[in-house]
Amino acid sequence: MEALNGETERLKKEVCLAVRQLFERGLIFPHGGNVSARLPGSSEYWITSNVYKGWIQPQDLVKMNLKGEVLEAREGVKPSIEYPMHQAVYERREDVNAVVHSHSPVTTGLTLAGVELQPITAEAGLLLKKVKTVPFAPPGSQVLAEKAAKQAEGGTLALLLQGHGVVGLGRNVLEAVGVVETLEGLALTQFFAMLAAGRVPTIPVEALKDLEGVE
Ligand SMILES: [Zn+2]
Repeated sequence: MEALNGETERLKKEVCLAVRQLFERGLIFPHGGNVSARLPGSSEYWITSNVYKGWIQPQDLVKMNLKGEVLEAREGVKPSIEYPMHQAVYERREDVNAVVHSHSPVTTGLTLAGVELQPITAEAGLLLKKVKTVPFAPPGSQVLAEKAAKQAEGGTLALLLQGHGVVGLGRNVLEAVGVVETLEGLALTQFFAMLAAGRVPTIPVEALKDLEGVE
């Protein structure tokens, strides 16, 4: 039990570190973005709340189960309105233990403009195979949760929420954060290439075949 408590505390600290890092990088905002994580195999998860994200601490997280019930929260603290989306993903993906929802400006801007991310680097070529777009649905709605979870099926690593933001999925917090940060870097590089060249140059498709299986 003590070991489990240690694991839970570590998990909560990781969530807070991720939130503060994404906040400082301008990928999540006081009213945009949320992070959750669970211990592998658990049907309970910890999610960010209505507390200011730049200063978030482990005691500001809310513990929930997959029925949408709050199991632990300090007084006055409510779970993120996006908990239905996190819950729906956990229900459908046993391998996912962390969900990072950001409002990454460049990735979201390109998605909103209808510009598809392209294989501009080998890294992009591999990652984009596991990225899916989710048509617009109101934030916090059950409709968004269902649409997102459906697209998260299979081996999806990231969702581009049209007119909203990005969702990174991972076996742990670091993986999910990494997906969101990598996508924003790629989106920024593609945007610069578009500005400079007026089009999106891509790497040769044949080169990507040699990279199959490389993670
Ligand atoms: Zn959002």
